[in-house]
Amino acid sequence: EARSYIRNFCIVAHIDHGKSTLADRFLELTGTKVDKAQVLDKLAVERERGITVRAQTATMNYEYKGHQYLLNLIDTPGHVDFSYEVSRSLRACQGAILLVDATAGIQAQTFSTFYQAFEANLEIIPGVNKIDHPSAVPELVVEQLKTHFDLHNPFMVSAKTGQGVKELIEAVIEKVPPPPGNTDGRLRCFLFDSWYDWLNGVICAIEIVDGRLQKGDRIRSINNGKTYQVHEIGFMRLELEPRNSLESGQVGYVVLNMKETSEALIGDTFCMVDDKDIVPFEGFKKSKCMVFSGVFPIDQEECEDLNKALMKYNLEDRSLVIQKDQSAALGNGFRCGFLGLLHMDIFKERLDREHKISVIMTPPSVPYKAILKDGTEILIEKCNEMPDKFKIKTFLEPMVSITIVIPNEYLGDVMSFCLQHRSKQDEIVNIDTKHVLLRYSLPLSEIIVDFYDCLKSITKGMATMDYEHKDYREADLGKLVAMINSDPIDALTFLVHRSQAYDKAKILVEKLKENIPGQQFDISIQASFDGKVIASQKIRPFRKDVLAKLYGGDQTRKNKLLDKQKRGKKKMKMIGNVEVDPATFQNILRN
Ligand code: GDP
Ligand code: MG
Repeated sequence: EARSYIRNFCIVAHIDHGKSTLADRFLELTGTKVDKAQVLDKLAVERERGITVRAQTATMNYEYKGHQYLLNLIDTPGHVDFSYEVSRSLRACQGAILLVDATAGIQAQTFSTFYQAFEANLEIIPGVNKIDHPSAVPELVVEQLKTHFDLHNPFMVSAKTGQGVKELIEAVIEKVPPPPGNTDGRLRCFLFDSWYDWLNGVICAIEIVDGRLQKGDRIRSINNGKTYQVHEIGFMRLELEPRNSLESGQVGYVVLNMKETSEALIGDTFCMVDDKDIVPFEGFKKSKCMVFSGVFPIDQEECEDLNKALMKYNLEDRSLVIQKDQSAALGNGFRCGFLGLLHMDIFKERLDREHKISVIMTPPSVPYKAILKDGTEILIEKCNEMPDKFKIKTFLEPMVSITIVIPNEYLGDVMSFCLQHRSKQDEIVNIDTKHVLLRYSLPLSEIIVDFYDCLKSITKGMATMDYEHKDYREADLGKLVAMINSDPIDALTFLVHRSQAYDKAKILVEKLKENIPGQQFDISIQASFDGKVIASQKIRPFRKDVLAKLYGGDQTRKNKLLDKQKRGKKKMKMIGNVEVDPATFQNILRN
């Protein structure tokens, strides 16, 4: 049967351990491509940062022991933000190559990706990469794989020189079982990825699990109930390769009449339009935004340009959520929801690189919840739109579990650093004689600002970190509000933990004092927590009379100057009777 010559597999690894390079060697070895650039990472940001944001899949042909095999390399996004998508792409595989860099050994993401592959019941083929490198210590990695994952006799490869790559791909054929499914059954098709292509519109990466799908067929999404027609179907080589149909066991793409990527629900099941009692693949869930940030153009006239840029990203990136927003302090802008930290970073970088719009991004926040006194649970996505304090019984905040791998000498510093972030240590394991793994539970809000950067600097760049979302937990939170002359500033309103309120309030008022120019009257700057003022400063009057310099000057010059000042004022915001340039918030919000 055709299916016995199909292998669906993926490569999982810590970042930079050589996943893309190995994928390239596979493509070369199978004659799928010849040129040098890494093609699986398509976005420029992805290439530069070496991260695969969007999973890309390639079908390869390989002859082995007299048979033609169809090898589907299912590429998985390389970061935890996309872990739900990783788990969906793994669902389309039966095997995984676990790749470890021989110069670095197992790292934080090696653990998380190993467990994902393990939980998905995949056949795991261990590989030690970069054995050509002068500082490679493959023996050490062999030991680590044995001790921590019970994986023996890993393949020794160099994705750079190609050494051992043929053996590895043949091991995939030997060890990974063919995909299960039923060619004669009714259609069940699994959607594991989607993206937007400016030529074709929404493209879905699919696996035909049961039955057969043909061009022109009418199908239905079990999760959103919508029906679609198959406009185009085919294999994903380096380019899309249209075919008439795909059948059980095959992986490929379909172009349906979908308007936007958000219709392509990762993890969805399709069946024929009239089929009623098809059992969908389990575990379907919609991805959730875990980090939010406001994006405001510094020059309000650029709002429309920003809108266009964001709409374009939204079309391409199904997990980005964008809503219009308005702030008394920052003007018109947008509120953006991201899957996680990396997702947000990539967004910022793209915005910087592709557009000349200067924006203020408000500090990231997490989706909090509150249980009201009447028992209802609400989601708080914006702290300045919160119900009254007296209606709230308790706050809940999202938690994460982080995994950190570091050289032993940094253990003390890293442990005390973690302790400053409301963390609880769950585990500490020696990886080998020189490295230790730490696992902590802590609130997501603690790691979203500069946690990883600090960790890197404490460990001179040696730490690797990964995190996983956990449930919500009760927390003693309250609203911290900065005020100018008792007028609250919406852009400087945060939900914070009681233990941190005082320090944060002090920093806020100090920064405000530094950044707000003196007026002809006293300005009082305050910060309150839970309705009580806990920090305050005064800005003393400062006489600034623009006309004073122009005594005797002629009237036209005087008018010109007044005019200029008036125009300048248009962009200013009035808060507590004080004109504040929104740009000053940029200095204040920048940590
Ligand atoms: P990914 O993040 O796992 O996709 O890693 P990449 O494939 O982008 O590789 C990260 C870096 O390691 C790149 O600079 C590669 O050129 C390099 N690299 C990958 N494989 C090898 C190898 O076998 N030997 C050596 N010396 N370098 C390698
Ligand atoms: Mg890569």
